[in-house]
Amino acid sequence: MAVTVDKEQCIGCSACISACPFGAIVMEAGKASITIACTMCGACVDTCPVNAIAKAAEQTTAGMNKADYKDVWVFIEQAEGQVKSVSYELLGEGRKLADAMGQKLAGVLIGEQVEPLAREVFAAGADKVFLVEGPEFKTYSTDGYTAVFTDLIHAYKPSVILLGATNDGRDLGPRVACRVGTGLTADCTNLGIDEETGLVAWTRPAFGGNIMATILCPEHRPQMGTVRPKVFKRPEQDFSRTGELIRAAGRVKSQDIRTKLIELIKVCTAACNLEEAEIIVAGGRGMCKPENFVLIEELANVLGGAVGASRAVIDAGWKPHPHQVGQTGKTVGPKVYFACGISGAIQHVAGMSSSDIVIAINKDADAPIFKVADYGIVGDVMEVLPALIDEFKKVKQ
Ligand code: FAD
Repeated sequence: MAVTVDKEQCIGCSACISACPFGAIVMEAGKASITIACTMCGACVDTCPVNAIAKAAEQTTAGMNKADYKDVWVFIEQAEGQVKSVSYELLGEGRKLADAMGQKLAGVLIGEQVEPLAREVFAAGADKVFLVEGPEFKTYSTDGYTAVFTDLIHAYKPSVILLGATNDGRDLGPRVACRVGTGLTADCTNLGIDEETGLVAWTRPAFGGNIMATILCPEHRPQMGTVRPKVFKRPEQDFSRTGELIRAAGRVKSQDIRTKLIELIKVCTAACNLEEAEIIVAGGRGMCKPENFVLIEELANVLGGAVGASRAVIDAGWKPHPHQVGQTGKTVGPKVYFACGISGAIQHVAGMSSSDIVIAINKDADAPIFKVADYGIVGDVMEVLPALIDEFKKVKQ
């Protein structure tokens, strides 16, 4: 913690408590105490009448010896006793980076009673697992996970950190990067090693997806990035693999976590669990009106798949945002992707081009979607979709 209180000097006047914009100072045994909610803004320093509060230089990784930083880390996302798919995908890619750099691959596993998942992480390619357990980590919290992850970085000095570009990864990554004074490349769609420097080459779409930018982090450590789910394939697991389990204590107390999970309400049913779906039936503006989307839902239902949509559909309010596929929606990689009445704009294709098989239905034979389709049906969705539904129903019976 870069802001400290000299307990000998503190007279317990509480002036700093009201000066702190983040509610990060509490009184303990009549003395001011800085909690992990501190953002190191320093607003309290000048308010102390006895100069008991000091702001030390931030403990960043800038200017430190870069050679001290080794190994590739993956943040392991887990929920309800399962490691999320994106973490496996990152372990597969992290393994390749670690091998190319001649370094080790580690998973960072934080949660309550999550030790059994370490076996899964080793099987997916990790050499080490950093395990932080406690009831305060049962569900993801910005305060708790940021503090723990930052401490691990200071203690073990990784060279590279990969996080999923998921809700939690997008929340955690930038905060941790800021705390340790490094940069972060968000929403990567490709990773490699820059031949000249040996640094990780982080590639992501820029300028609305019209160019791909490759970004290096030469001056600071760790090199950090979030990676979109489903851009990399999940590796085969090998359960004969084992590794080193490193238990680390979290210094977070439950009262330090400013957000409390009151209730978990699942708004996303199987129909919008696009990242995990093996079959996706997606509709675009060519469905013409929201009522026609029932055909998309019916085909998805018959095939046991999820329902996707183009942004045009989301913007028109026909479907909520969790169904959107594309650059500003989800990146998906199912075995089969049906694109129905979707033109194939670059921003849509950016989110579904890693599908194994793409089947496009469009009445315009020149629609760009046919360039990325494995099978194309030139026709009216209102005729083709009912015919497909009937045929698949027959196959199922
Ligand atoms: P349209 O482009 O209007 O295409 C409709 C298609 O339906 C046409 O090809 C037409 O021939 C066909 N059609 C019409 N009637 C029928 C019929 N009866 N039967 C069969 N075919 C029919 N888009 C996304 O999807 N996802 C994103 O994440 C995304 N992010 C974006 C981010 C930025 C910064 C920008 C600028 C744009 C983004 N877009 C995104 C929007 C994108 O550029 C397109 O506008 C959008 O994908 C078009 O959606 P669409 O294909 O449904 O509609």
